Amino acid sequence: MEDIFDRLDVDDDVRHQFKQPRRIHQAAIPVRMDDGSLQVFPGWRAQYDQSRGPCKGGIRFHPDVDADEVATLSFWMMLKCAVVNLPFGGAKGGVKVDPKSLSRLELERLSRGYIRAFYDVIGPNRDIPAPDVNTNETIMGWMADEYSEIARHKVPAIITGKPPAMGGSAGRTAATGRGALQVLEAWARRRGMQPENMTIAVQGFGNAGYHFARLAKESGYRIVALSDSKGAIHARQGLDPEPIWQHKHKNRELRGMVYCQSSVCAESDVDHMSQDDLLALDVDVLVLAALENAITTDNVDQVRAGAILEIANGPVTADADKSLARKKVTVLPDVLANAGGVIVSYLEWIQNRTGDYWSESYINERLADQLVGQAELCFDRAEGENIDYRVAAYLQSVERIALAIASSGTQR
Ligand code: GLU
Repeated sequence: MEDIFDRLDVDDDVRHQFKQPRRIHQAAIPVRMDDGSLQVFPGWRAQYDQSRGPCKGGIRFHPDVDADEVATLSFWMMLKCAVVNLPFGGAKGGVKVDPKSLSRLELERLSRGYIRAFYDVIGPNRDIPAPDVNTNETIMGWMADEYSEIARHKVPAIITGKPPAMGGSAGRTAATGRGALQVLEAWARRRGMQPENMTIAVQGFGNAGYHFARLAKESGYRIVALSDSKGAIHARQGLDPEPIWQHKHKNRELRGMVYCQSSVCAESDVDHMSQDDLLALDVDVLVLAALENAITTDNVDQVRAGAILEIANGPVTADADKSLARKKVTVLPDVLANAGGVIVSYLEWIQNRTGDYWSESYINERLADQLVGQAELCFDRAEGENIDYRVAAYLQSVERIALAIASSGTQR
C-alpha cells in the first residue's frame, strides 16, 4: 500500500485513515443445539472504511475465521467496491464454526444469532452483509427475516444475496462466476485469444467456481480440471461442470467423478489428482476459487499456467505475487475478477429500496456494463503505465477512496 500511496502522492490524512479498520465488532453467539446443550460461537463484523458509502461485504462461516482475517477481507472489500465504482465502503463478517457439523436447524439458529448480535451496527444505510464462504441465499433469507422481526417491519435492503422469493435479485447466485468470466474475456479479447484454444483448471468448486466453470464451458473454453477440498479431477478432453456439480451435491465430493465435456466417458479418461497437482497443471488459465493463500512462496515455482484468475479473495500471497510477475504470469486480481458478486448485490439493494424489480437479462447487462467498463479502464492504465493489473486496480481504487476522504473535510 505504501507503494500505491507514493505513486498517487496521497497526503498523510488519507494514509492514516487507510492503515486500520474503522471498527471491528466481536460477539459471542450462543446457539441451542439439537441435543439441548448450548454452544457459544465467536463472531465478528469488521467495517474498514465508509467514505464512499455504507459498508458492504459478506459473512463467512469457517473454522479458521478470526478477527485478523475478517479485518483483511473488509479491507479488500473496500478496495473492490471502489475499483468497480460502487457507492459502498468495505466490511466483512464471520463466525468461527464448522458449518458442516451443524444440523439445518442449528445453522438457522446460528444465522439468526449473528443478526441479533450485530443488529445495532448493521443496516441498509450503515452496513449491508451478503453471502461468502459457506453461506448462501438460504442463510441470507433467515438473516433478513431475523432483522425484519426485530425491526418489526420488512427491511429487505439489510442484506443481499437473498432468495428471489424474499426480494433477492435475479442473477445474484451466478454473478461472481459470471463476472469473473467477463473479466477473463475482456482480457483475452485484448490478446486476440480464442476460447476454443484455451484450457482452464479451476481450484475450488463452491458457488463461484461452479458458475464460472459452467459459463466458461458454455462460452467454448475447455475446463480440463476441477478440485474441491478433498481432491481434484483432470480430463484433457474437457470436463462438463453441470453433472459434476450435481454429483458433488449428492455425494459431497468430486471423487468418483467420470463426466467429460460431451458425454459420460470412461473412468480411465479422468485422472484423479491432489489439489497441489492441479495448481501445477500446464494450462492457459489457472482459476483460484477456493480460499486465501492458495499460491505461496512454497508452491509458486510449480505454477505453469500462463495466467491466473483470482475468484477467491486473496488466493496469492504478496511474495508469491512478485514471483509470478518475474515469471511473467499474468494475474487478473481478485478485487476486479470477483467483483461481479458485489455489483449484483448493489443492484439487489437498489431494487429493494425502490421496489422496482428487474429481469435477469437486464441485470446481466448492467453487470457487464459496470464490470467490463471498469476492467477496461484498469487494463488501459496497466498497459499505459507498464504496471501489473493488481497495481493498476489498487491505483484506480485508492484514488477514488482518497478523493472521498478528502472531500469529507478536514475537521472530523
Ligand atoms: N462475499 C462476496 C465478496 O467477497 C460478496 C460481497 C457482497 O455481495 O457484498 O465479494
